[in-house]
Amino acid sequence: VPALCVRDLRKTYDNGVQALKGVSLDVAPGDFHALLGPNGAGKSTLIGIVSSLVNKSGGTVEVFGVDIDAERSAAMRLIGLVPQEFNFNMFEKPLDICVNYAGFYGLPRAQALARAEQVLKDAQLWDKADKMSRTLSGGMKRRLMIARAMMTQPKLLILDEPTAGVDIEIRRGMWKTLKEINAAGTTIILTTHYLEEAESLCRNLAIIDHGSIVEHGPMKSLLAKL
Ligand code: ADP
Ligand code: ADP
Repeated sequence: VPALCVRDLRKTYDNGVQALKGVSLDVAPGDFHALLGPNGAGKSTLIGIVSSLVNKSGGTVEVFGVDIDAERSAAMRLIGLVPQEFNFNMFEKPLDICVNYAGFYGLPRAQALARAEQVLKDAQLWDKADKMSRTLSGGMKRRLMIARAMMTQPKLLILDEPTAGVDIEIRRGMWKTLKEINAAGTTIILTTHYLEEAESLCRNLAIIDHGSIVEHGPMKSLLAKL
């Protein structure tokens, strides 16, 4: 069963913008998959729908065979989301941010503490666990959002433009973290408008433009066409 199965997905916003015009997409378990496209193509809308933040106008979405409408909370437990904007409390410490997030999902505190140590170490943030998040660099804040999402051991990690606006050194550090997460078995989907990012990370690629998938396949065969 695919990690993600999207069929004929449509979204028209209240202002009449057709952000998705019948998108179908399969992502295999274990894949590292990029959604590449220019600003306004529909990438954020697509992952917003998959993670139940945006209501769809039509179509179906299954996460590891679980329909997001029929079994929404079960589907959401399989997903970790890393949004584009920082959305944690800058006046909390990374350790508390991770532990509290897991608590929200019902993980007992002792387990949450052990898990937080693991994810913060994986994200090279353990030495910052007790610092005010506000004092972290931009790259560290982004890795903190990845660490937080990994608290619930999601089978599918979805990232929206994880490295938008960050410099190449910070980007490489994030790539390393993401490659390790994928190597440990988590399926990853990320949106990006950097071809270079998709190329260095992903095995498969879908190119989205004006609300439609215009290319989809293995990175290597698509690169040969571009
Ligand atoms: P991308 O992530 O590829 O930049 P988006 O999914 O954010 O694309 O946007 C797709 C289209 O939908 C764009 O034309 C955008 O302006 C529009 N859009 C996005 N969010 C909203 C919204 N909340 N209300 C109305 N239009 C929106
Ligand atoms: P550093 O101090 O490590 O350079 P910054 O906090 O200045 O990190 O941010 C790095 C980059 O991330 C900047 O280019 C900035 O524009 C971008 N950035 C900062 N905050 C956000 C945000 N909330 N959403 C998206 N990008 C952001």
